[in-house]
Amino acid sequence: MKNIAVIGAGTMGNGIAHVFAQNGFSVRLIDISQKALDKGLANISKNLDRMLAKGKTDQTLKSDTLENITLFTSIPEGVADTDLVVEAASENLKVKLDIFKELEQSCPTDTILATNTSSISITQIAAATQRPDKVIGMHFMNPVPIMQLVEIIRGYSTSDDTTQTVMNVSKELGKTPTQVNDYPGFVANRILMPMINEAIESLYHGVAGVSEIDTVMKLGMAHPMGPLQLADFIGLDVCLSILNVMYEGLKNPKYAPCPLLVNMVTAGKLGVKSGEGFYDYASSRKAEQVSERFLN
Ligand code: NAD
Repeated sequence: MKNIAVIGAGTMGNGIAHVFAQNGFSVRLIDISQKALDKGLANISKNLDRMLAKGKTDQTLKSDTLENITLFTSIPEGVADTDLVVEAASENLKVKLDIFKELEQSCPTDTILATNTSSISITQIAAATQRPDKVIGMHFMNPVPIMQLVEIIRGYSTSDDTTQTVMNVSKELGKTPTQVNDYPGFVANRILMPMINEAIESLYHGVAGVSEIDTVMKLGMAHPMGPLQLADFIGLDVCLSILNVMYEGLKNPKYAPCPLLVNMVTAGKLGVKSGEGFYDYASSRKAEQVSERFLN
């Protein structure tokens, strides 16, 4: 494994590109948006500066990491000589199926095709290709350079070889890969998202305010951040998509997204990436009052 392509330069894609590049892989970072690519690369550089300030990297490793990354706006051009592709584009089934059809056409036949999806069926994505044995879930956690876990999800047809290769590559990145099976939400989000949804329900029903809910979970359960802040950090649109996939896939009303979450996403309040969610990131003012407008 030497040449890696990462599709999508957003929150997750730039983090994934960062860790591969920092560990000596040659990375092609691909996005349909040049603006997203520029922003993604600037973010990697900013994160490397932070590491530099903390003494966790040096100037040579910083410049080597940045030199290992090449930007592309076209999938066929970017993936032509890759050993592994990690898709981290938007959490939307049609977007992912179209990308995997394109990857099937453009990648060498032995390239492993991984997806960073949070919830969509690996088996369904694999069915868009002629190589379902080489399709696998490689679910990094946010922020990628810091979080230890990679949830490795085996689709129905994923081979032992593919699984072992991806487990080994994850270890080369200094991560701890953990293998799970392909059911909606896998393990991480099947447990995390109902907690986040219940925190939003608690706000929606007026049980407590934003900061009180987060404080209870931070101080009471020793979570590093509260569930509403975490939802802002993940992206409220991403949380909504994951809950919808679990609701439809498991046919269980306990996964139904809270109407307040639906309203906030419809209003474009997506959390950190849009500047406002449960908190206001432009002015650091708590966005509690903002979300209260949507309450019944
Ligand atoms: P994001 O919205 O920040 O970024 C998505 C990027 O994909 C955008 O830059 C967009 O331009 C690009 N894109 C869309 N269609 C494309 C295409 N056809 N070809 C190339 N690029 C395309 O999303 P994100 O939060 O980085 O999530 C990416 C994936 O990672 C999703 O599947 C999500 O479920 C998963 N994930 C997210 C988190 C999180 O905390 N945000 C955590 C784990 C996994």
